[in-house]
Amino acid sequence: MIPFDSTIRTRLVFGPGAVEQVGVLARELGGSRVLLVTDPGLVDAGHADRVESLLRSAHLEVAVFDRARENPTTRCVEECRDAAREAGVELLVGLGGGSAMDTAKGCNFLLTNGGRMQDYWGVGKAQRPMLPFIAVPTTAGTGSECQCAALIADEITHQKMACLDPKVTARVAILDPELTLSQPSWVTAHTGIDAVTHAVETAVTRRRNALSLTYSHRAFQLLVPALPRVMEAPGDIEARGQMLLGAALGGLAIENSMLGAAHSAANPLTAVYDMVHGEAVGLMLPAVIRFNAADPGARRAYAELASAPEIACVSDGLDAAVASLVGRIEHLLNCAGLPRSLAERGVTADTLEAMAAQAAGQWTAQFNPRPVAPADFVALYRAAMEPRGAGDAG
Ligand SMILES: [Zn+2]
Repeated sequence: MIPFDSTIRTRLVFGPGAVEQVGVLARELGGSRVLLVTDPGLVDAGHADRVESLLRSAHLEVAVFDRARENPTTRCVEECRDAAREAGVELLVGLGGGSAMDTAKGCNFLLTNGGRMQDYWGVGKAQRPMLPFIAVPTTAGTGSECQCAALIADEITHQKMACLDPKVTARVAILDPELTLSQPSWVTAHTGIDAVTHAVETAVTRRRNALSLTYSHRAFQLLVPALPRVMEAPGDIEARGQMLLGAALGGLAIENSMLGAAHSAANPLTAVYDMVHGEAVGLMLPAVIRFNAADPGARRAYAELASAPEIACVSDGLDAAVASLVGRIEHLLNCAGLPRSLAERGVTADTLEAMAAQAAGQWTAQFNPRPVAPADFVALYRAAMEPRGAGDAG
C-alpha cells in the first residue's frame, strides 16, 4: 500500500441552480467586501452580473475584476491584486474556467503575502494566511476549484509557474451545471478532454494510492459516457452535471496523485504551437497510454481504470483491456472533434527534439509511471504525429 496524507479542503456544493447560494456561502466565510474575478466572456454571457447581484443581495459590497484571460500572466495577476487592494476586499470569488480561478489564486498570493508571483513558484512558499476564496467553475475541465495550485505565466519569459500552497485552495466550490451551458462547443470539447486526461493520468502515476484511485475511477466513470452526450446535446443538464462533477473529482485526484507524461508533453506544444491545453493533452494521451502500458504495474492500473465505466473487464486480460481503453479514448477525441494527429494540427518533425527536451524537464514528468527521457518524448511525439484510429464507441 502506498502511504498518503490527504485533507479535503474544499466544501463542494453541487446541483443545478447551486449558484443561487453564493451570497449565503460568502457571508458564512465572513467579511463584507468581495472581489469577483471573472473574464469578458462571462460578462457577455450574463453570469458575472448575476453572481454580482446575488452577492449584493446578501448585503456584500462587490468589486469586479473582469480582465482574467487565457493562460494568465504575472501582469494580469498584479492588475487583479491592485483592484483587490483598492477595494479593500476580505473575500475572493472566482467565476469562470481555470484561467479566472488561477488569476484569483495568484491575486490571493500577492495580496496577502506580498512580493511577486515568482516568489511562490514551487510548493508552500507563502508564510501568511490568505483570504477565503470561493470557486465557481463555468467549464468542466481543469478541476482547479479543488486544487491548491495557481498556474501563472511569466509575462516576459512565458515560463509557466506552478505555485502550490494549501492555503490558496478554495474554501468552497459551487458546482452548478447550469453555468456550463453557455460555453461554446469547442470549449466543452477541449475542457472535457482535459478532464478525461486527468482521470487517466492520475490513475497510473507513481503517487497513485487507494484514495486518489477512488477519485480517478469515479471521475472516469462519470466522464466517459457524459462527454459524447454533451457534444451531441449541449443542453443535457444531467450529462453536464456528470462532466462538472467528474472534472472536480479529477481535480481531487490530481491533488493526491499528480499527473504524467501527457501533461509534460503538452506544455511545449502550447508554448511552441499555441495549442490549447485540452487539445494538447488529448493528442498525446493514446501514445502515452501505449508507452506506459509496457510497465506491468501501469498496465494493470489502466485495465482497472477501464473496468470502472465497463469499457473492459480485467478478467479479459490486461492487454485486451488496455487496447479497449485506447480505443475508447480515441472515440472520445473523435467526438470532441480534435485533429487526428499532431501533423494535422501543423506540428512539424523538425521541432520534436527541442520540445522533447523541454517536456522531459517538466515537473509532471517525474510522476509518470515509466521514466521518460528526452528520447522517449521524441518517440511519443512521433507516435502522436500518426493519425489515430477510428476509435471504439463500445
Ligand atoms: Zn490538464
